[in-house]
Amino acid sequence: MNRIVENEIVIVGGGICGLATALALHRKKIKSLVLEKSEELRATGAAIIVQANGWHALDQLGIGSILRQTAIQIQGGKFISISDDGQKEVPFGINQEFRCLKRTDLINTMANCLPMETIRTSSKVVSIEVDSATHYPQLLLSNGSILQAKVCPKSPRIFASDKVVIGCDGVNSIIANMVGLHQTKLLHFSTCVARGFTNYPNGHQFPSEFAVLCRGQVQLGIIPMTHKLVYWFITRLSTSQDSTISRDSNLIRQSLMESMEGFPIHAMDMIQSCELNSLHLTNLKYRPPWDLLLSKFHKGTIVIAGDALHVTGPFIAQGGSASIEDAIVLARCLAQKMHNAKNTMIERRIVSEAFDKYVKERRMRVFWLSLNSFLVGKKLDAKSWIVRFIVIAIMIVLFRDPEWHLRYNCGTLHEEEGD
Ligand SMILES: Cc1cc2nc3c(=O)[nH]c(=O)nc-3n(C[C@H](O)[C@H](O)[C@H](O)COP(=O)(O)OP(=O)(O)OC[C@H]3O[C@@H](n4cnc5c(N)ncnc54)[C@H](O)[C@@H]3O)c2cc1C
Repeated sequence: MNRIVENEIVIVGGGICGLATALALHRKKIKSLVLEKSEELRATGAAIIVQANGWHALDQLGIGSILRQTAIQIQGGKFISISDDGQKEVPFGINQEFRCLKRTDLINTMANCLPMETIRTSSKVVSIEVDSATHYPQLLLSNGSILQAKVCPKSPRIFASDKVVIGCDGVNSIIANMVGLHQTKLLHFSTCVARGFTNYPNGHQFPSEFAVLCRGQVQLGIIPMTHKLVYWFITRLSTSQDSTISRDSNLIRQSLMESMEGFPIHAMDMIQSCELNSLHLTNLKYRPPWDLLLSKFHKGTIVIAGDALHVTGPFIAQGGSASIEDAIVLARCLAQKMHNAKNTMIERRIVSEAFDKYVKERRMRVFWLSLNSFLVGKKLDAKSWIVRFIVIAIMIVLFRDPEWHLRYNCGTLHEEEGD
């Protein structure tokens, strides 16, 4: 039987990774506190594709069966390339679990499984420092309060004991800066992505398939989520007006309709009748994959996970699942070390050893995911056929098996030897 470890761990960011980390720790009977800067939990970007490895991870968190009820299994797929000469269709198999989840369903299900008061919203972390006396991190919040290692009775603005900080604060992570990842600058793809839902109150006619329609450098992906709801995304080259367009849903829809000239009528109708409030247009940033080979993932008792560590772009639809995998591996490594320790206090050495183990398990996994996504993104970005040819050749050598990334097992959160 595990001991209950009372010490609080602070998780910065209440997105997919932050909540998954809190839930994974909770499953291992370790308390944590999630600080989220927004007034309420947000789920930007309509939906998320979750593939077999992601479902395995959600099962470990104990929420797979709840979420499966909200999303149909996709049975197969087809690429349709459209040109002035007509359409060419190439089917592809989907042999493992593949479903598309509403982001709000994922976020809310994780949040509902956490103990009350685990999540503190309106809590933006503005800086993090290491206390010179205790060597433990202290966090400064935007409301002026400080979270640090010791209770300070004289100062009402200083709160109680937190020694471990897990940075799940996404693409513009300040915790990643603290760990030292700022030396590796994030770069932009030339492609941007728009996403949204279309609801068909009387049911839609789409089969349970992932359809990818492609004309020039515009790609449309269509995935039914339920018998009435369809998730779709469009990738196209970014333009200088995108920052203005992205602020107005009507402008996003108008720009999508313009870039979809030549697509089938049913696809144009789907975009025209989309749910405007589900629309998002996103410029895509990525951390160069090779930076993940040498960068630090942790510094003392501060560690990073999710997009804060490995923002990749959505091209193989694995960023969210990789973040949940991070959460499970991190919780498992911490739990093993903490439950084996004699002292119930969190010791620096124990935490550091747990983080070393986490890094060892995750480094190559996130490197290969990032590299695969980077190459697919560069293929879409490429204007010259020579560059496209070179990228495709590298992909054939390195990623001949398109399903390689599904075959990863992040391990279990259930009782293991040594727990
Ligand atoms: C267009 C697009 C499509 C995608 N599609 C897929 C897909 O189909 N499948 C898939 O697996 N992945 C997909 N991804 C990737 C996936 O969305 C991300 O990998 C995932 O959301 C990362 O989760 P995260 O919790 O690390 O970061 P985020 O979701 O960015 O969450 C970070 C959280 O931290 C909070 N925060 C930030 N700074 C602070 C601070 N200083 N203090 C407190 N809180 C803070 C933010 O408000 C936010 O809630 C897609 C990404 C994009 C851009």
